[in-house]
Amino acid sequence: MISVIRFIYRTFRLTALIPMAHLAFSQPAPAGFYDLLLKNGHVIDAKNGLSAVRDVAIKDGAIAAVAAQIDPASAFKVVDVSGLYVTPGLVDMHVHVYAGTGERNSYAGDNSLYPDGYTFRVGVTTVADAGCSGWRNFEDFKERIIDRSKTRVLAFLNIVGAGMRGPRFENDLKDMDPVPAAEMALKHKGLIVGFKTAHYAGPEWTPVENAVKAGTAAGIPVMVDFGEDRPQRPLAELLTHKLRPGDIYTHCYSGLRHELGDDGKVNPGMIEGRRRGVIFDVGHGGGSFAWRVAVPAIQQGFLPDSISTDLHVGSMNAGMKDLLNVMDKFLAMGLSLDEVVGDSTWHPAREIHHEELGNLSVGAPADVAVLRLEQGHFGFTDMYGARMAGTERLECELTLRGGKVVYDLNGISRPDWQTLPKNYTRTGDPRWDAVTPGRGATPRR
Ligand SMILES: [Zn+2]
Repeated sequence: MISVIRFIYRTFRLTALIPMAHLAFSQPAPAGFYDLLLKNGHVIDAKNGLSAVRDVAIKDGAIAAVAAQIDPASAFKVVDVSGLYVTPGLVDMHVHVYAGTGERNSYAGDNSLYPDGYTFRVGVTTVADAGCSGWRNFEDFKERIIDRSKTRVLAFLNIVGAGMRGPRFENDLKDMDPVPAAEMALKHKGLIVGFKTAHYAGPEWTPVENAVKAGTAAGIPVMVDFGEDRPQRPLAELLTHKLRPGDIYTHCYSGLRHELGDDGKVNPGMIEGRRRGVIFDVGHGGGSFAWRVAVPAIQQGFLPDSISTDLHVGSMNAGMKDLLNVMDKFLAMGLSLDEVVGDSTWHPAREIHHEELGNLSVGAPADVAVLRLEQGHFGFTDMYGARMAGTERLECELTLRGGKVVYDLNGISRPDWQTLPKNYTRTGDPRWDAVTPGRGATPRR
């Protein structure tokens, strides 16, 4: 009986998939049906195990079809992306973007950045703020930044109620109550994707334990910046006993907390933690990525689960430049482009429980990055300013957010000015263009 039900279920699932395939193949969409078609790009979609040249069609802000050939006549707008890589919009799950409060020396203030200036230009469409706000100031962060940004901004809530505002706040064990933290997370389900503990200097386990309590109550993961290295709370204990499967250890190649032993081997606690399901995130930042840790770890097979920047004012112009720069470093260490893209799209999306993101499945939000892989002589620096030479570098050509162009480096979606009417004004259309849709009158056809 069960096998019959399974058979029916499988058959139903298959037939449910067939109409989507037909859309692109046997039943061509009518002329101008899709809003936008990216033609001839090499699609990398880790969720769907796809790395091949494909056309990608978009309608109403969502992915409508991915197929070897989609008729250009079926789309209102076609952009030729031959020779480029088409990936899901990048997901950077460790940034600091609670800017604008005016507070000095604070990540709920001057140490943070407004996201839109640092995201679309490098293909990032989703970021997760890593604990700048706590339950006391999350709603201020939401009102100030999350609700006003074009970038999709999600958040890890700091277990410290006051948020990431400096040692006086972050070492205050009295302001790490998991109950109001979990309540705030449940109130903003989906927006608050986890809890963060960071920068703690003391010997106690309280910040980690309370973050895990809040995470268990709200059903979301915990991200740990393990703060000051203390013998009373060794890394192996954190990874093998304190964290749950799905919790995230960030700054995993910093070397600041014995990630690499004196024998040059990856800490056995890291390997055991991974076996238990703990997630390892890069979180490069200004002071959390060293070649002398990352290279041996990678050589020993300890690859990251997700690649993230730890973007803030102290990292943005340092060894870390942006997410593509961090991805480049992993290419330089020998990871494949498919791996690096997976680590910056589908893997972080899954880690923050947003499985609708980081992929190009039909129906997914049409957040898309179009990347160029340049060949040449490049160099990449770590937290200590040590350089590694590399021969590949990613550049973002085009970014779509919700199916519309939000960044176009070389104008590949734009018409040549000499082909336009003498008094041309607006060249785009709101169906696909969010860069210049409101400027000037609609051009006459
Ligand atoms: Zn950080």
